[in-house]
Amino acid sequence: TEEKLRQSEKLTIVGQLAAGVAHEIRNPLTALRGFVQLQFEKDEVREIMLKEIDRIDCISREFLLLAKPQSIRVAEEDPLGLLTDVLTLLQSQAHLHKLMIVTEIDKPLPKIRCEANQVKQAIMNLLKNAMEAMDEGGTLYVRLKGDQEGATLTVTDEGRGIAPEHVKRLGDPFFTTKEEGTGLGLMVTRQIVHHHGGTLTFDSELGKGTAVTMWLPIDADFSTGVDTGEIQATTM
Ligand code: ADP
Ligand code: MG
Repeated sequence: TEEKLRQSEKLTIVGQLAAGVAHEIRNPLTALRGFVQLQFEKDEVREIMLKEIDRIDCISREFLLLAKPQSIRVAEEDPLGLLTDVLTLLQSQAHLHKLMIVTEIDKPLPKIRCEANQVKQAIMNLLKNAMEAMDEGGTLYVRLKGDQEGATLTVTDEGRGIAPEHVKRLGDPFFTTKEEGTGLGLMVTRQIVHHHGGTLTFDSELGKGTAVTMWLPIDADFSTGVDTGEIQATTM
């Protein structure tokens, strides 16, 4: 446990440093983007430069999420409200990629003691991955259920699935199999879930799809702050 404490302390410091650097990078980047847009006449060059700038911006933005957000507001939240907010944001993207989203809500649902923005971010990262895994369209099943102990969200996609040798690397910083990926989404999600005392489980079959299950307790205790959690994974 002493080693784990040291580890988590190290991670916190690294996270804060990274967030500081990310913040400093994003300001000049905005200015740079404006100039590039104005100065480069050759469309091709401009597009490449803008794309690369946006990529740096995307990575810095995800980095910023690693540090604790400025204002943490823990409250009793309705999990369906949080899910609905995220689904609304993703609706047009789903439509664009010819994806159907089927939701199944098992009521009644308990209220969850949580930080709403963090939980929404975690849900968003899972849904984005599911959508990105389905190049050829398909159906995304989103199921929410609850009991006296907590709420469970299951996101099931019909996408490409995860190779067994990749399962244990999910949530490792910078682990990505996507050309445009950052490999930070699941790391952030994992951190949020464990901060809330919850669990994250992957069930995947290559070529068939993936089911991700996120469980959050109704009464998270935010006083400890030591993150020793790991992603649990099984292959179907
Ligand atoms: P990114 O999305 O930027 O690649 P993430 O941390 O969100 O980073 O995901 C890491 C990797 O995990 C992805 O590149 C992908 O290989 C795999 N992955 C995550 N979710 C899924 C999913 N639903 N289906 C297939 N692969 C997934
Ligand atoms: Mg992702």
